[in-house]
Amino acid sequence: MTTKAFGLVIILIVAAVLTGGYFWWRAENVNSGDVASSRYNPDDYLTANSDLFPGVEVESITQYWEEFAVTAQYPKTPNKQVAESLYKFVEAKIDEFIKEGEKRPNRNEWDDEMHLTFSTFGLAPNLFSVKFNLNEYFTDNSDPVIDIITKAYDFNTGRELKLADLFDPQASYQDRLSDLTNQGLQADSEVTDKRLIGPATAVEPQNFQRFTFDSDSLTFYYPAGQVSSQARKVDIPYGRIDDLLSPLVKQHLDPLTNKAKKASDIDVTKPIPVPTPVPTATPSDSGKVKPIPDTCANPVALTFDDGPHKTLTPAKLDVLKEKGVVATFFMIGNQVIAYPDIVNRIYQEGHELGNHTWDHQQLTRLDSAGVKDEIQRAEAAIKNAAGQDAPVFRPPYGAYNDTVKQEAKLPIILWSVDPKDWQDRVTSIVDDRVNSATKRGDIILLHDIHQSTEDAVPLIIDQLKAKGFCFVTVSQLLGLPENTASVAGQVYSKQK
Ligand SMILES: [Zn+2]
Repeated sequence: MTTKAFGLVIILIVAAVLTGGYFWWRAENVNSGDVASSRYNPDDYLTANSDLFPGVEVESITQYWEEFAVTAQYPKTPNKQVAESLYKFVEAKIDEFIKEGEKRPNRNEWDDEMHLTFSTFGLAPNLFSVKFNLNEYFTDNSDPVIDIITKAYDFNTGRELKLADLFDPQASYQDRLSDLTNQGLQADSEVTDKRLIGPATAVEPQNFQRFTFDSDSLTFYYPAGQVSSQARKVDIPYGRIDDLLSPLVKQHLDPLTNKAKKASDIDVTKPIPVPTPVPTATPSDSGKVKPIPDTCANPVALTFDDGPHKTLTPAKLDVLKEKGVVATFFMIGNQVIAYPDIVNRIYQEGHELGNHTWDHQQLTRLDSAGVKDEIQRAEAAIKNAAGQDAPVFRPPYGAYNDTVKQEAKLPIILWSVDPKDWQDRVTSIVDDRVNSATKRGDIILLHDIHQSTEDAVPLIIDQLKAKGFCFVTVSQLLGLPENTASVAGQVYSKQK
């Protein structure tokens, strides 16, 4: 498949406007330390959510096809020029990733994975910066790419900002930045090999290209492997560089505190409070699992993966309601935080919540901490949205191993009918395959992100009903106990 065709089938999922809290509520005064650079940081999604600028939306690309699996999130800004620049950046990263993957021999389905997530930071309503975390894995399991990429913009002009734009052109700011970042890393106990600091902080443009700015500081980032096995950062408070800053930055700082002017001094939209997510959720304590009704002699379970989707999920819920059918939704955490109201509606309308990890990584590639984090972050997002834990878990691609079984803390739900609706996006094909393959007790795998599947759902329901099948949730079908933690790690693909 060509790169061009790949582009055509990218599924753009535009998130609802996430009018986040005031970005200047951030108060990071540390000089150096951990950075939310890897999938292991449980707070990453919280910052990504709460730091969004008013009016900024989350845009997501979810794509898996042939050898490639891509999830990418990036901000969509009200400023069109900035939005376009960010989109082009993401598109170029995906193209690069595909070209890199195509170089490698003996590739299997979804062997090459790319994941892009982001956090936003701001100094003023017009000064916006983004930190992207990029993770790429390839078929031979060598050379994963783990990087931090930053972008900064001025919404007033739509222009991308370079570091030089933040400083007075007459000032020798490079020397000061070199000294301050050097000090910061020297003081960082995680940087054990201090010999790496000199080269990383020398006055070289590439050493200062990863930066963001917030209300207190200019922050520089060091990706995993540069000065430590983990990513590091150094925060430089504006007070240490206020004599060097350009008017672009300086006009937004309070001269007394050298911090961003108070929210009340800046005209900005009223923030919508960000709900407090539950960081760790215990496995299901949701209401009793209803037994399969006596009238339902031939039960099957419909499952919808990879949502929620902004428009397809609500439309699907309408259809399910009209037809009096319940289903199970295996959702991706980073989509859940974009559409919490849809997740809540899924639960309120009697469907089952399912955990499908934070960002759809192939879990068999991760260590136990990574697996745990992928599941717990999605769990917290679902609980925050619906007020309920998801009682069931489905690993992306159905890929699991002993580590996944151990860390899941929930039953692992696979499937027994797979119409490959992600591959053949044709309603009649999806419908025919489900219709001809389904038997009593089956778990049917469908995706919540394709229009072709959406259109097939009412047909599938009508045809299966006509054959005497009835629809129940996965927990009902499998007769799972009320507390599904008691069957944690057990693998199910159909009713026994
Ligand atoms: Zn999936």
